[in-house]
Amino acid sequence: QPSSLSGLPAGVGEALEAEGVAELYPPQEAAVEAGVADGESLVAAVPTASGKTLIAELAMLSSIERGGKALYIVPLRALASEKKTEFERWEEFGVTVGVSTGNYESDGEWLATRDIIVATSEKVDSLIRNGAPWIDDLTCVVSDEVHLVDDPNRGPTLEVTLAKLRKVNPGLQTVALSATVGNADVIAEWLDAELVESDWRPIDLRMGVHFGNAIDFADGSKREVPVERGEDQTARLVADALDTEEDGQGGSSLVFVNSRRNAESSARKLTDVTGPRLTDDERDQLRELADEIRSGSDTDTASDLADAVEQGSAFHHAGLRSEDRARVEDAFRDRLIKCISATPTLAAGVNTPARRVIVRDWRRYDGEFGGMKPLDVLEVHQMCGRAGRPGLDPYGEAVLLANDADTKEELFERYLWADPEPVRSKLAAEPALRTHVLATVASGFASTRDGLLSFLDNTLYATQTDDEGRLAAVTDTVLDYLAVNDFIERDRDGGSESLTATGIGHTVSRLYLDPMSAAEMIDGLRSVARDAADTGASAEADNGEFVRTGDADDASGGDEPGFGTYTRAGDDESGERETENEETDEEETEASEVTPLGLYHLISRTPDMYELYLKSGDRETYTELCYERETEFLGDVPSEYEDVRFEDWLASLKTARLLEDWVNEVDEDRITERYGVGPGDIRGKVDTAEWLLRAAETLARDVEGVDGDVVVAVREARKRIEYGVREELLDLAGVRNVGRKRARRLFEAGIETRADLREADKAVVLGALRGRERTAERILEHAGREDPSMDDVRPDKSASAAAT
Ligand code: ADP
Repeated sequence: QPSSLSGLPAGVGEALEAEGVAELYPPQEAAVEAGVADGESLVAAVPTASGKTLIAELAMLSSIERGGKALYIVPLRALASEKKTEFERWEEFGVTVGVSTGNYESDGEWLATRDIIVATSEKVDSLIRNGAPWIDDLTCVVSDEVHLVDDPNRGPTLEVTLAKLRKVNPGLQTVALSATVGNADVIAEWLDAELVESDWRPIDLRMGVHFGNAIDFADGSKREVPVERGEDQTARLVADALDTEEDGQGGSSLVFVNSRRNAESSARKLTDVTGPRLTDDERDQLRELADEIRSGSDTDTASDLADAVEQGSAFHHAGLRSEDRARVEDAFRDRLIKCISATPTLAAGVNTPARRVIVRDWRRYDGEFGGMKPLDVLEVHQMCGRAGRPGLDPYGEAVLLANDADTKEELFERYLWADPEPVRSKLAAEPALRTHVLATVASGFASTRDGLLSFLDNTLYATQTDDEGRLAAVTDTVLDYLAVNDFIERDRDGGSESLTATGIGHTVSRLYLDPMSAAEMIDGLRSVARDAADTGASAEADNGEFVRTGDADDASGGDEPGFGTYTRAGDDESGERETENEETDEEETEASEVTPLGLYHLISRTPDMYELYLKSGDRETYTELCYERETEFLGDVPSEYEDVRFEDWLASLKTARLLEDWVNEVDEDRITERYGVGPGDIRGKVDTAEWLLRAAETLARDVEGVDGDVVVAVREARKRIEYGVREELLDLAGVRNVGRKRARRLFEAGIETRADLREADKAVVLGALRGRERTAERILEHAGREDPSMDDVRPDKSASAAAT
C-alpha cells in the first residue's frame, strides 16, 4: 500500500491513495524492492502507461526528503510544462518545482531554490556549460524516455549530459525510464543501475492486423469488421470503435499516418464518420473550441483544423502551434474529439490514450534511404501502447492495416511477433563530438587528450562498442577541426597533450552553438571588411573558403544529410587570416552594405538551423534569386557545378527568404503557402533565427576583424525577426500586446511610436485596433499612458453612461 511507503515526505502516501493509487503496480513494486526510494540507481524498461512517472516520483521525493535536490530530464520541450504541473501537486508537502526553458545562454541561478527542476537535455547541457552552481547539489536525476539516446541528433547530448552529471556528483542516483527495448541491460550496465524490465500493462493490449473483413489478433482471436466495397478501411475501423459502446460510450481512435499532409487529409475524411455521431451538446462545445482555434491564428492550417474539430475529428503534427496541439489533446481526453489523425510525434510524448489505435502507415519516406522505409518496431510498439484508457476501456486495441494477404503476413512477422530493436549510441559521429568535445574541454571536464578520452569512457558508446579505437579516431579529427578554427589550443609537450579552450572557444560553448555554425558565422562576418577591400578584385581569394573533405560519418547511420566535414582550405596556420586582414585593414575600406537577407542566409546555412528542403521547381526559383541578390551574401557563393554545396546554399536561401518575408510583414498564411510549412514551423524558424542572431552579435563583438557597423546590422536584423516587422515598426511592436499586425494598423493610422501611443486620440487607437476596447486599454497601459481607460470613447457613449 502506498501509504506504508517509507522515506517519503509525510502525507505523500495518503495523497497517492486519494488519487486512486490503491496499490503499486507490479513494476513499481519491483522498483521499490530494487531500492528506488532508497537512493539506488535504476533503469525501468516498461511499456507506456504502466506508471513510470510514479517510479520517478518515488525516487525524487525520497531523495528530497533526505535533503537532496532532483532533476527531471524530459525528451521534448512541450513536455516540460506538463511535467512541472504534474509535480506541482507535491507543493503542499513542501516540495518546490521549477521548469527551465527559454534561452540557452543563462545559468538559471533562480533554480537553486527549487527541489525539483524540469528541463530538456539540451537545456541541462547548456546550464552545465554556463556553470549553474546548483548542478553540484543534485542527488537524483531522472531521464525520461532514455531510449532516445538512439536518436542521431539528440541522443549524444543526453548521453554526454548524463555522463557529466554523474562525473560531478559521484553518488548521484540515476533513474532512467525507458520503453521496452532490446537491450535495457546494456543501459543499466552503463548507468551502474538496477534493472526492472517488464511487459506488464494496467490494461490488456490486443494487437492485430485488419485485412478483408476482420481483425486478426496476435492472441488468435478475431473481430469481424467487414468493409463494404468502396469503403475506406480506416473510416470503417474508426466507426466500428465509436459504435461499440462500453459503459454507454463509444470508443475513440488514434490514427497514425506518415506525413503532415496525410494527417490533415485523414482528419478531413474522418469527419464523415465522427460528425454524424455527435450529440447536440458535443456539437456546441466543439463549435466553441473551433472558434478559439480560428481566432488564435488566421492560417489555413488553423482554419482546416477548426473545420475538422467542429465535426469531432482532428489532426496533430509538429506544424501545429503548441496552443492548438494542447487544445486537441485536452478535447480528446475529454472525449469531445472522437478521433485524432497524427504523425508519429504524438506517440513519443503526451498522454492521449484511445480505445483503438490504428497504424495506417507503417512506412515513411526517408530521404537518405531514398524511398519508403518501414518504421522501427520500437516506434510501432509505442504507437500501439497508446491503446486502452485505464478505467474507461476493458482493453486497448491496436490495429495495423493490410490490403493483401502477403502484407498481413509481413506485418505479423515484422511488428506483432517481433521484439523491439536494441538502442545504439550515436556519439561517435563528428557533428555530435564537435560540439561535445569543445564543451567538455571548455567547462573543465578534461584538460588533456587522455583526460578527454577517459571522460568519454563514461558514455553508453564506450559501454557498447567493440571498436575501441573508433571514438579516439573521431575525437582526434574533431580536435584538429577545433584547433584549426581557433576554438582550442593544444600543447604537445610531455606525455599527454594538453587542451585549453580559447576565449572564443568558451564563448561558442556557452552560446550553445555547434562549432561549425560558429566558424561559418565568424567567417561570414569577417568577410564584410574583406569584400569591401576586394571590390572587384580576384574572386579566387581562398581565404576562409570551406572545402568538403569527406563524408560525415557513415557508421553513425543517420546524421543530418548534407553535412560534410569542413576545414579551411590550405589554412594550417591560423596566422594566415591575420596576414590577409593586414592587407585589407586600410582606413579607407568602407564596410559594404550588410542586408538582413545576407545575415539570414548566413545563419540559415549553419548546421544549427535545420533546413527546408527544395521541392520541384525550387532549384530554378532560388538559383535565379541567388544571382539577383548575389552581392548580399556574406562569403563566397559556391559554383553551380559544385552540386551538393550549391544545393545546400539554395536550401538555405529558401530559409533566408522565409525569414525575409517574415520581417517584411508578409501574412503568416501566405508564408505557409509559399514555403509549404505549418505555422508552428514559422515559429520554430523564427525562434532559432533569433537565437542564432543573438549569438552572431556576441561573436561579431568578440572576434577580431569584424566591423563595428556589422554588429549594429546584426542587432537590427535580430530585432526585426523578433517582432516580424519592418524597421519603422520596431518601436511600436516592442509594446506588449501590440504584435506585427496591430503595429502596422496603428502606424497607418498615424501612430508611429510608443510615445505617439501616449498622446494619441483614443478613438483613433480604438479604430486601428478594430474596436477592441480591452486590447486598446492594455496596449495604452503598456505604452505607459496615464489614463488608458476607453470609457470616454465608447461609441455608444450616451447609452453606456445612462446605464451606469
Ligand atoms: P508512463 O509514464 O509509464 O507512460 P504514467 O506514469 O503516465 O505512465 O501512468 C499512466 C497512468 O496511470 C497515470 O494516469 C497514473 O496516474 C496512473 N497510475 C500510475 N500508477 C498507478 C497505480 N499504482 N495505481 C493506479 N493508477 C496508477
